[in-house]
Amino acid sequence: MKKLAIIIGLVILGTAVFLILRNNPTLEVENENTNGLEINGGDGNSSLNSNDALRQELEESAAQPEIKTILASEVSNVDSGFTFSAVVPVAWELEAVPALESINIFDPAAANESSLEQSQIFIRQFMANDFLTLSTVTIHSREELTINGRPAVRYDIEKKAGVADFPDQPSWRNERHVVTDIKVMDQNPSVFYVIARRPGLDDAIYQDFLDSLNLDYKPEAGLVEPVEEFRERITLKRFGTYITPETSPVQPERFTGYHTGVDVEFADVDTEIQVRAIAEGEVIEAQTVSGYGGVVVIRHTINDGPLLALYGHLDAQTIPAKGSAVSAGEAIGVLGEGETLETDFERKHLHFAMLKGSSVNFRGYVLSENELGGWHDPLEFWS
Ligand SMILES: [Zn+2]
Repeated sequence: MKKLAIIIGLVILGTAVFLILRNNPTLEVENENTNGLEINGGDGNSSLNSNDALRQELEESAAQPEIKTILASEVSNVDSGFTFSAVVPVAWELEAVPALESINIFDPAAANESSLEQSQIFIRQFMANDFLTLSTVTIHSREELTINGRPAVRYDIEKKAGVADFPDQPSWRNERHVVTDIKVMDQNPSVFYVIARRPGLDDAIYQDFLDSLNLDYKPEAGLVEPVEEFRERITLKRFGTYITPETSPVQPERFTGYHTGVDVEFADVDTEIQVRAIAEGEVIEAQTVSGYGGVVVIRHTINDGPLLALYGHLDAQTIPAKGSAVSAGEAIGVLGEGETLETDFERKHLHFAMLKGSSVNFRGYVLSENELGGWHDPLEFWS
């Protein structure tokens, strides 16, 4: 009996020690849980309300410097060397300056008449093996840095006295100002961006721009994805998937055959989905076609050969005119609403196909693998 009592005593003592040891970390967790409970409230309703309030609070704090992401390749007439994205204040706009193969990022609210003079950040480019500076400027300081993994140099420069003003550029380029040069590619020669900051522009805005730069430079064969999350959303029908009304992953199904493209699914997304040209090219068809709703076919030259890209299930009200020239990444419409005429009563998705050669074929399905040989598997182009 005595032995048993000792054993029970030891077990109780051991449990107490264990609980004490265990309690400290647990306490913190419990605190978090308590907070969570307070936020969530007792019932579904109040949890929703306080979550909404929390979300609103988060959005307000995130909105402090109101910014947006810009995509250089979406600017009309932009030089194909510009493929970056970056954030800028939400009211700013950008334009190409084709005479100089440059991009002007300007503030339309600035007190100047021309967008060029409203320039806040002005971006030029050059091809070279190494960083270069003009002999026409004095370099007050030079600092080597890395911007998103790319070698870069920040200069404080000033045009030398007696040198003529730089044409087609904002006049502040003739004053003392900061520029950051970035080597965009690994190989030589490389594209270099020259990113100039208007004198007096808040350096934090300029730094945010540089820090957010995504220098996704696409060499010759690289193509722009036709929609966001392109690869991730090909979940139902891939290239070459053989379907019948019985076996199709989409029900009900009216088609039979090998799928000539990929379907990129957006049935779960309420917002407008922009469709973009995968490369520069010419719109050779833009119309409503049975089975698709709005369809755009663009003739591209890819890897030195002709290739037709077919973009199906677009809202026909938003597509460009037949014969239009488009640049890489240019918006060519938005996806049609699911279960409406815009998609010919299909779900909201992009049917994207790449035809070999240069004759148009609207067929979404073919009956033999031999015929399927007339199309590329689009995913071969996005590894
Ligand atoms: Zn399809």
